[in-house]
Amino acid sequence: MSGRKTVLVTGGTGYIGSHTVVELYENGYDCILVDNLHNSSSQLVANLETLVGEPIKFYQTDLCDKKGLEQVFRENRIDSVIHFASLKAVGESAKVPLRYYRKNILAALNLLELMEQYEVKILVFASSATVYGDATKQPGMIPIPETCPLGPTNPYGSTKVIIEKLLHDLHISDEKLWKFAILRYFNPIGAHPSGLIGEDPSGVPNNLVPYMAQVASGKIEKLRIFGNDYDTRDGTAIRDYVHVVDLAKGHVAALRYLEKKDDENEGICREWNLGSGTGSTVLEVYNAFCKAYGKEIPYEIVGRRDGDVINLTAKIDRAVKELNWKPQLDVADACESLCR
Ligand code: UDP
Repeated sequence: MSGRKTVLVTGGTGYIGSHTVVELYENGYDCILVDNLHNSSSQLVANLETLVGEPIKFYQTDLCDKKGLEQVFRENRIDSVIHFASLKAVGESAKVPLRYYRKNILAALNLLELMEQYEVKILVFASSATVYGDATKQPGMIPIPETCPLGPTNPYGSTKVIIEKLLHDLHISDEKLWKFAILRYFNPIGAHPSGLIGEDPSGVPNNLVPYMAQVASGKIEKLRIFGNDYDTRDGTAIRDYVHVVDLAKGHVAALRYLEKKDDENEGICREWNLGSGTGSTVLEVYNAFCKAYGKEIPYEIVGRRDGDVINLTAKIDRAVKELNWKPQLDVADACESLCR
């Protein structure tokens, strides 16, 4: 066990968190997981242990409980943190903004205060492309570069922007101390090929691919495609779908980048988009899903969904160049892993 670096992963049993934990172990790291199991189950920890082939230290702790979180820092030697834990439902955030501001921001504050106190200086922060809002309103911003002006259109996105700002302010306060990577995800899809971890939203999912999966399994009658009157190749909206395993690898790449900065005694706070760099229409994703599933699932075209925009595709050159990361899997791979 000695010689391995230990990463504290908040939200480690979640969709992206769990896939990242697998990649971390594959790359020689040890992990400590903290999660309140709000949106996941302890079975995930057992499945992760099966996948990585060793016990994983797990704390069922809410990050808003600072005393509980401090116990994790007191009991372990932590080299770095990846912070996923967050309330993340865009629609819900508009209905209960106070809860979103309180939970997401307090969690980040508690975590950063403890990192400062226990001298843990390296953090990878799970942000989101939601911070850009409607980038199609700005000329020349598709594909979206990291320099695109921010303009979140919901409280969830606003909490991400505030935490990003907090990280920048901290970095400015002590430029050599902190090493922060802000990763802005586009549309994560797919699952680990083992089928042991994956997205398991309780209730009716909002996102396209989990929704199609529930139609396929018979839980939902048919897919509703929100609008086919956009000015795109087939009339449906374009998104950047990135395989969750690629996304997970992006975190390891970012962590390595920060560790190198640490070795060089330099501080940093910088954003990277993690997407595929390629846009797919809803119908293209639908077709890829049906192909992987082996038969067509029922759908109907309905009106546009409120707040949807025509095209959100990532410019990923910065991550490719600086993090030495490149997505390897596509929408077809994601649909296949999901159908398995
Ligand atoms: N979409 C759809 N039907 C659904 C869910 C999503 O047509 O049941 C479309 C949605 O309008 C958008 C794309 O699929 O163009 C991706 O939506 P999702 O909610 O997965 O992610 P978003 O890009 O909104 O974060």
